[in-house]
Amino acid sequence: MADDIRFDGQVAIVTGAGGGLGRQHALELARRGAKVVVNDLGGSVDGSGGSSEAAKAVVAEIEAFGGEAIAHGASVTDDAGVADLVKTTIDKWGRIDILVANAGILRDRTLTKMELADFEAVIQVHVFGTFKPIKAVWDIMKAQNYGRIVVTTSSSGMYGNFGQSNYGAAKMAVLGLMNTLKLEGAKNNVKINAISPVAATRMTEGLMPPEVLEKLKPEYVTPGVVYLVSEDAPTGAILTAGAGAFALSRIFETEGVYLGEGGLSAEEVRDSWEQITAEPGQQAYFNGGEQGQKFFRKLGGG
Ligand code: NAD
Repeated sequence: MADDIRFDGQVAIVTGAGGGLGRQHALELARRGAKVVVNDLGGSVDGSGGSSEAAKAVVAEIEAFGGEAIAHGASVTDDAGVADLVKTTIDKWGRIDILVANAGILRDRTLTKMELADFEAVIQVHVFGTFKPIKAVWDIMKAQNYGRIVVTTSSSGMYGNFGQSNYGAAKMAVLGLMNTLKLEGAKNNVKINAISPVAATRMTEGLMPPEVLEKLKPEYVTPGVVYLVSEDAPTGAILTAGAGAFALSRIFETEGVYLGEGGLSAEEVRDSWEQITAEPGQQAYFNGGEQGQKFFRKLGGG
């Protein structure tokens, strides 16, 4: 077996680490030598309330096995709180190598019943609550010429889930953020990936029978996150993980068809649908420009 993945001398921030998946990520990073900032607002699953107890309890667990950790109760949506989270980390340990943006809430409703406030709250925590900590650590990681970031997406965003238009929109947004930042961070060895977990946590309790939930322990997802924040991590990957299974999720684009410039019509698009959607030759692109190159290749008859 190759060398163990270790994080000795490295500093990690894990948001939403007071319970569920984030707690497991924090524990495992600490077991492997990282100094960990356990961030959690400590609210309920819909984002209401707050208490610093959850984060403190995880810190106590880490200290119990000889690891190093501190708790921070900032909301990931709060500018001053996020600034203080990062300042506290730097004051204490002088660097930030890893950020796992994991905090999240749910406000499930069908669109008919969804209030703007439910949409906004979920977008705030998942999109702004991913963006703000990333923005706050970005220049520190660039200056160090080292950084590893994981954002947390969901099958709900990539494929859809009934009653989760707010959550699905938010979870796709973090992939858009990742896709650009993987390009902007490359020069300074800042890598960013996404985890798409399935796990039995308070978010999913009651959604599945107990015997299924038993197979979905959050600790089965964590090895994927640990790899994605390790030195050898890829960048721009969407790793799906649950029940001990791991796979890569990608957006593919079909080869498509060139319909010419003059006299293009909706009818031509309709009549070419089979060719537009044909799978042979489909590809996953690493950046938007690659798609443009294909269009011009087709224009040239390629
Ligand atoms: P969880 O509710 O146990 O954990 C989420 C944590 O985030 C909680 O401890 C909560 O207090 C914290 N949090 C919420 N709002 C916060 C804020 N504003 N600031 C700081 N902390 C905040 O649920 P989980 O299942 O462990 O979810 C972790 C992540 O995984 C979430 O982003 C979730 O959307 C995602 N996810 C989970 C599943 C699953 O099957 N459990 C599936 C797909 C995605």
